[in-house]
Amino acid sequence: MTALRVNGPRLWDSLMDLATLGATPKGGVCRLALTDLDRQARDRVGAWLREAGCKVEVDGVGNMFAIRPGRDAKAPPVLTGSHIDTQPSGGKFDGNYGVLAGLEVIRTLNDAGVATGKPVGVAIWTNEEGSRFVPVMGGSGAFAGVFPVAEILAQRDVAGTAFGDALAAIGYQGELPVGGRPLDAYFEAHIEQGPILEREARAIGLVTGVLGLRWYDCAWTGQDAHAGPTPMPARRDALRGAARLVEAVHALALRSAPDGRGTVGFVQVAPNSRNVVPGHVRMSVDLRHPDDAALAAMDAELRSAAAAIASELGLECEVREVASFASCRFDAGCVEQVRAAAKAFGYSHLEIVSGAGHDAVYVARVAPTAMVFIPCKDGISHNELESARPEHVEAGANVLLHAVLARAGVSADRR
Ligand SMILES: [Zn+2]
Repeated sequence: MTALRVNGPRLWDSLMDLATLGATPKGGVCRLALTDLDRQARDRVGAWLREAGCKVEVDGVGNMFAIRPGRDAKAPPVLTGSHIDTQPSGGKFDGNYGVLAGLEVIRTLNDAGVATGKPVGVAIWTNEEGSRFVPVMGGSGAFAGVFPVAEILAQRDVAGTAFGDALAAIGYQGELPVGGRPLDAYFEAHIEQGPILEREARAIGLVTGVLGLRWYDCAWTGQDAHAGPTPMPARRDALRGAARLVEAVHALALRSAPDGRGTVGFVQVAPNSRNVVPGHVRMSVDLRHPDDAALAAMDAELRSAAAAIASELGLECEVREVASFASCRFDAGCVEQVRAAAKAFGYSHLEIVSGAGHDAVYVARVAPTAMVFIPCKDGISHNELESARPEHVEAGANVLLHAVLARAGVSADRR
C-alpha cells in the first residue's frame, strides 16, 4: 500500500524555488494577492502543473484548477490545493505547501505511471490571506457561494485599486464560472501554524474541523471618583468589573477544555489616570470552540457572568457581539482516509482542531473535505521565521498522496 512515495527532496526544492518570488531579507516571503509577484508565482506553478500533464483553467475570481485526467473523464476530480499569496511578513510554507504538495502528488503519479479512476487536481485559491483585500479566503468563499462574485471583484485595497482591476492587470481573470463545479473530495495539506504537533512530537495532524468564533465588545460603566476621598465601599470601579470578567472568560474556556478558547486581548480604561477610580472600561472577548452548541453555551456563560459581576459591583455592562464565524466539521470519511494513510506509513499522528481559518473551511460547504497538518517550528506562522522540517514536509505529502489515491481509485495492476 505504501509502495508509492513522493519525492521529498523534489518537493522541498519546489518550495524553496517558489519562495524566491517575494523573498524577504529575514528568509520570509512577501507576496500579496494580485500583485505582479503573485502573477509570477502563478505563472511558475502553472507551468510546473502543465509540464506535469495537467490542464490548467482559471475562474472569474482567479482561482486556478489544474486537472490530471482519470480513466473516468466525466467523474468529478479529487482536488488538493491551498493558496500562494502570503502575508506582508509571511513565510515559505503557509499555503505554498498545500499547493506544491498537490503538485508533488501529481508528479509522483506520473513517475510511477499510475492511472487513477477519477481525475486528480490541484487548486490555487485567490487571496486566502485577506491582507491586501478583504475578505480572507475570498477566492474559495466565492467558489463555495459564500460571497457574491461581484462583491469580491469590487473590494478595494488601501490604495483604492479594485480587486477586479488588479486581477485583470495580472492576466488572471479567467473564463470558468466561479463555483458550481462538482468535486469528489478536497484534501488540503498545511502547516499547523500552532504549537501542538511539535509539543506532542507528532508528524501528522488529522484535522477534524475548524474552531467556530465569536467576537464581543464589552463596555463597563461605573463612576469616575477621586482615589483619596472615596471610601472603598462607595466605589463603582469599572476596572474591577473588567478584571473579574477576564478571569471569568479564562475559567469558562477552561471548563470547555480541551477545545474551548477564551481571550481578552484588548482593554481600554478611562480616564486612565493614576488617582482616579476608573468609571469606564472597554474590552474585547474572543471565544472559540469547534462545536457550535458548545460555543453558544460559552456565549450564555459570558453574558451571565458579566451580568452577575455588574450587579454585585454596582456597575453596568453591555456585551455586544461584533463578529462570528460558524465552526466547521470535516467529512468523517475523508478524515478516516487521512488517518489510514498516516497509519500505513507508521507516522506518529493525532487528531487536531484548527484554530485558524483555511480555504478548506469554505470548500467543505460544497464537497467532502479534510486537512493534513504538519508541525511548524515553534508553532510560528504569519512570520518570516516560519519553518518546517523536510521530513515532515515529505510525510504530509505522502499522506496526501494516499488519501487522494484512496478516494480517486487505482486499478490493482498499477500499484
Ligand atoms: Zn494558509
